[in-house]
Amino acid sequence: MRSGSWRRAGMSAEGRGRKTTRLEVDVAGESGFCFGVRRAVRLAMKASHRAGRPVHSLGPLMHNPQEVSRLEDEGIRVARSTSGLRSGVVIVRSHGVEPRILERLRSRGLTVVDATCPFVRKAQKLALKLVNSGYSVILVGDREHPEVRSIVAYAGGKVSVVEGPGDLDALRLTRRIGILSQTTQPVENLARVVAWAVERADEVKVYNTVCLATVRRQDEARRMARKADLVLVVGGRASANTKRLVEICREEGAETHHIESARELKAGWLAGKHRAAIIGGASTPRWIIDGVRDRVFSFTRPGCRARIPNTFGKGDRTWNRSKARMRHSPGTSSKRRSRPKNSKRETSLRKR
Ligand code: SF4
Repeated sequence: MRSGSWRRAGMSAEGRGRKTTRLEVDVAGESGFCFGVRRAVRLAMKASHRAGRPVHSLGPLMHNPQEVSRLEDEGIRVARSTSGLRSGVVIVRSHGVEPRILERLRSRGLTVVDATCPFVRKAQKLALKLVNSGYSVILVGDREHPEVRSIVAYAGGKVSVVEGPGDLDALRLTRRIGILSQTTQPVENLARVVAWAVERADEVKVYNTVCLATVRRQDEARRMARKADLVLVVGGRASANTKRLVEICREEGAETHHIESARELKAGWLAGKHRAAIIGGASTPRWIIDGVRDRVFSFTRPGCRARIPNTFGKGDRTWNRSKARMRHSPGTSSKRRSRPKNSKRETSLRKR
């Protein structure tokens, strides 16, 4: 997916009074909900409409407080634990959950909507397969992340989680090692563990369970950070994939700010900058990214135009600030074929 960009000459960065002769802003094409989070939200909304009363997600559906609060208004409440859940509908989020928790919920007569991402489900099954085939299993990931806990639990707890090189030497392994990864880990982390294992084992079996959406998003962030002198990474502070995007952009040397919403954006950051990038995490809804873009835009004079990637149909869209409306580029169908049905806010923003 292409990134979009807009530019204008003579922009004034509010708050500092400094002028830039030119500012160009790229919005990452890979920004916004990934497939798994979008699917979880869709399933939750459907369950809520069907039930006709509030449903509960077991933990926040995504690591994004603003979207979680919007979903609360739509009737999707967050249950922090299973203890208060006695009846009704419960949504298992895209990270998955330990099998014993699923059993507990079902045994109470709750209707369970399992929104575990299919890629996470695949990792769970592969971990179990490796354990059953007699391998010592290593999972590269964050020990406390719910997805990692669910994968370990599916494999009966017989998995060693490795967060970094420091964990490797303490492992007690057989000569047959099986390796997989948390879906949002950088591929390089998996590769490092594989390189370590091949020097010690007779047999190494590797499943690359890093999600392609993650790889593409990280690659795009790296590319954009190389070109930009300011990067705004938009996403929840607890979001592992967003934090990783921040790290990647900083590794590339760009001034990088992690913000959860447009309100945190400071005009002074734009002063003296020539090229800025806006990148959203996999759990960041499009309406928050659009809000950041609009706020950056608000620091410019009316009359400038935005070109942003069209993630909902063919071609890019052009946003003309002075006319305050969105129109499609020539040759683009005006029919928005893949518009998410679950975001009133997002819809209203695009209609402006
Ligand atoms: S990042 Fe990939 S694996 Fe994780 S929820 Fe999104 S699509 Fe699924």
